[in-house]
Amino acid sequence: MYFPLQDIEAAKINVDDPDHLRIHSIETFGTHDGPGIRLVIFVQGCQFRCLYCQNPDTLDVRGGTLVEINELVNRAVRQKTYFGKDGGVTVSGGEPLLQRSKLLTLFKRLHEEGINTCLDSNGRLNNAQVHELLEHTDLLLLDVKHINDDIHHKLTGLTNKNTLELAAYRESTGKRMWLRYVLVPGWTDQEEYLEEWAQRFTDYKTVDRVEIIPFHQLGLHKWALMNMEYPLKETPTPSEEIKQKALGIFNKYFENVILK
Ligand code: SF4
Repeated sequence: MYFPLQDIEAAKINVDDPDHLRIHSIETFGTHDGPGIRLVIFVQGCQFRCLYCQNPDTLDVRGGTLVEINELVNRAVRQKTYFGKDGGVTVSGGEPLLQRSKLLTLFKRLHEEGINTCLDSNGRLNNAQVHELLEHTDLLLLDVKHINDDIHHKLTGLTNKNTLELAAYRESTGKRMWLRYVLVPGWTDQEEYLEEWAQRFTDYKTVDRVEIIPFHQLGLHKWALMNMEYPLKETPTPSEEIKQKALGIFNKYFENVILK
């Protein structure tokens, strides 16, 4: 392991202060994380350790800045006219579910203001608090990083069990989700697993979009800045052939597949 996994106790630092969210950064007019124009709040802290993580500076659960939830709601309200009919607020990360109780407060407040809510998660947790948060989440963007648990473990440091269970839970609620898949040469581009991934979700009624996100190296410098060894520094971005192969497989199983 190239970076120590932090324990769940550390994450409780975040849970203990109910009025503040621990965030990494904010994007005011985001168009990549959910529909329409969105205020994207990138929270701090993640328990996955994806080999390809392009935001290693969001991993430390003790890092980032504490920002009052009130301030985040006020920002969203000020920006509301730009959201149009599809936009709203997305919380991404890091991993948002580590701050689930505070996000519940945030999302309830946003709904009171008539603002659409979207959660971008790796599905690390699946419990009653998360389910309550999902009730107030208009759209879940769920990253299912690999269908094979052994490879998922090697790729992220943890099992895919919770993620798959959370996908099934979301499906049972009938509420919308998009599935996301990062395409990494040599790690997530195996044909048989792409088929298995797609077969797992093809009958889901709540999945109205699947996004293939080609691996890139834009975060390379962050690993160096943090003095961390980057395991995929030699990994190329996926070729056109690899991207088209993945797209072709997913297209067999889903109506709306977007290659980003
Ligand atoms: S889940 Fe996201 S933030 Fe966490 S390690 Fe993986 S890529 Fe990085």
